[in-house]
Amino acid sequence: MTQYPHLLAPLDLGFTTLKNRVLMGSMHTGLEETKDWNRVAEFYAARARGGVALMVTGGMAPNPEGGVFPGAAGLYTDEDIANHKVVTDRVHDADGKIAMQILHAGRYAYAPNCVSASGIKSPISPFPPKELDEDGIEKQISDIVTAATRAQQAGYDGVEVMGSEGYFLNQFLVTHTNKRTDRWGGSYENRMRLPVEVVRRVREAVGTDFIVIYRLSMIDLIPNGSIWEEVVQLAKAIEAAGATILNTGIGWHEARIPTIATSVPRRAFTWVTKKLMGEVQIPIITSNRINMPDVGEAVLADGCADMISMARPFLADADFVAKAMAGKAAEIAPCIACNQACLDHTFSGKLSSCLVNPRACHETELTVEPADKTKKIAVVGAGPAGLSAALTAAERGHAVTIFDKAQELGGQLNMAKQVPGKEEFWGLVDYYKTMVAKAAITLQLGVTATPDVLAEFDDIIIATGVAPRDPGIPGQDGPNVLSYIDVLRGKAKVGQNVAIIGAGGIGFDVAEFLVTDDSPTENLDEWLEEWGVGDPSETRGGLRPEGPKPEAPVRQVTLLQRKSEKLGKRLGKTTGWIHRAGLQMKNVQMMGGVNYERIDANGLHISKGEAREEPQIIAADTIVLCAGQVPERSLADLLIDAGRQVHVIGGADVAAELDAKRAIDQGTRLAATL
Ligand code: NAP
Ligand code: SF4
Repeated sequence: MTQYPHLLAPLDLGFTTLKNRVLMGSMHTGLEETKDWNRVAEFYAARARGGVALMVTGGMAPNPEGGVFPGAAGLYTDEDIANHKVVTDRVHDADGKIAMQILHAGRYAYAPNCVSASGIKSPISPFPPKELDEDGIEKQISDIVTAATRAQQAGYDGVEVMGSEGYFLNQFLVTHTNKRTDRWGGSYENRMRLPVEVVRRVREAVGTDFIVIYRLSMIDLIPNGSIWEEVVQLAKAIEAAGATILNTGIGWHEARIPTIATSVPRRAFTWVTKKLMGEVQIPIITSNRINMPDVGEAVLADGCADMISMARPFLADADFVAKAMAGKAAEIAPCIACNQACLDHTFSGKLSSCLVNPRACHETELTVEPADKTKKIAVVGAGPAGLSAALTAAERGHAVTIFDKAQELGGQLNMAKQVPGKEEFWGLVDYYKTMVAKAAITLQLGVTATPDVLAEFDDIIIATGVAPRDPGIPGQDGPNVLSYIDVLRGKAKVGQNVAIIGAGGIGFDVAEFLVTDDSPTENLDEWLEEWGVGDPSETRGGLRPEGPKPEAPVRQVTLLQRKSEKLGKRLGKTTGWIHRAGLQMKNVQMMGGVNYERIDANGLHISKGEAREEPQIIAADTIVLCAGQVPERSLADLLIDAGRQVHVIGGADVAAELDAKRAIDQGTRLAATL
């Protein structure tokens, strides 16, 4: 008897059956743009082998003006059809099913030739769209229909028509972006004409036995977004137009409310999808922040949807469903919703991967094969770099021993998990514990590795991490000064008025830790109130009229840096704004361009600019040093001096810009070669 009876139940669509209730949602990985179709095929085939019922590809443009950026992947020619056939054949050989997403970006297209319902520029693109005339609208419909028929010729099992997230079809639905007065604008009947017509014409073109998913925005999270009655009206019309399945979209891309970041509570929006259950007869898929089988099972058991969509969790672990089926959920590499290697890469024009699984999108290039000759390998340091190296080495058949001075695995992950909004790190540390035990790696915790102890090993991997940088501020040895380690390890008493020196990732984390009492990530009602999310039945777009209502901060915090740029500018591309907005809601004062003159019993003395002007005191009773980090290489240096060859990885190698993504990638890649 499975633990997940709802999740693993088949879903009969009439002309075909899905083997379980798990959809891999669409992700733009950048793989298609590499034009290495073998690589694209292997990415999807690996997930098909891992048991997911149906996958949706990244968005494919129906025409050049609809591409998210110039040169975005699409299905324009017969040669494109042949390329996509490589993918669909490989997926079918692996007993999988795959649908192609048709994504017309409308005014979100990052190109001067973009088009939309009205000529209103979006806040997230520099290009004002051209308002389409009647012929222009017909061309868009016709191109979308052609893309669907080409997808069918390419062997896809279906298409997903992207109608949410503020893209082209969504832009026609709401008055925020549709100011037309013809038959495509004005009344809701008119505004929904385009998506309904698209689905009707797609169905007409592809026949009955082909999956047509429509992704419908259930809560827009923008001013003048849809009201619930309109969502229901649209859903019914889309069903009548011939859709097989309704998928859920949450929030437009321009919304100022986080919808998928790690600080968003798990399954934060499934209550919205639940409202649609019973209104239509076709299956409904829900999504956003579902990352473990027990969460998906509970969502379905609670009647929130017929099926769940997960996207990023399939980057983290291609075998998600197979492991759930085998009762091995603890062995699923968890998506921690950090966006660091997936969406942040996409928005920087880089190929996606995954922080916890560097093999994602690199399946053909980063392979882990049995070693020709097995060796005894020592890994010093049980942080992310050391753990990933140890697990990869063990997978290849090496005999691995991990040493760490601390009594527990995880290194700095154990500090990250204390930060409100970063609770997913607990699961990551637990995953590593499970996998280390399964791999029968010898653990030497609470042990300081010395050259003598390491003498017997064939290879030594140094992953000793980092030490806090000494900022050399006069008075920093005083009783009112703490390091971030003292604070995040919970060992030190912190005053009510705090100055934080350094506004990198750790400075921001410490500020969040110090202003928050109970994490709203653990309390959905509180989180919805904090960000001003309301019921779309009561308020258009699901935005509360009173706006965000955060809990009062538990301390007064000032966050400082020497650079004069905006604080948090170098945080994650897709998450930095959330950290900044979160702290601003908690009245955290942010000061850039400062010099730290000295610390005394009165607080932190600073001045401004190169001329050291405007001297002032931040009257803090506690000053926390978050001034960056330096490599901890003392053991590496000792070994090198003694003539040993060592492999230095993670923060011990380069501390600047260290994060778990680089550490895990470096550890995995090194161990794949030893
Ligand atoms: P960091 O990002 O390099 O930030 C160090 C901070 O200290 C900067 O604000 C820097 O600003 C300041 N600083 C540097 N030298 C200083 C000095 N001599 N005196 C005073 N201030 C100094 O390092 P971190 O905050 O320790 O984080 C380490 C890494 O962990 C980050 O690179 C990040 O990748 C990762 N991380 C990320 C997150 C996240 O994305 N949310 C969270 C935690 C950790 P000024 O030089 O302008 O003063
Ligand atoms: Fe999830 Fe982070 Fe991996 Fe993206 S990079 S899939 S958010 S764990």
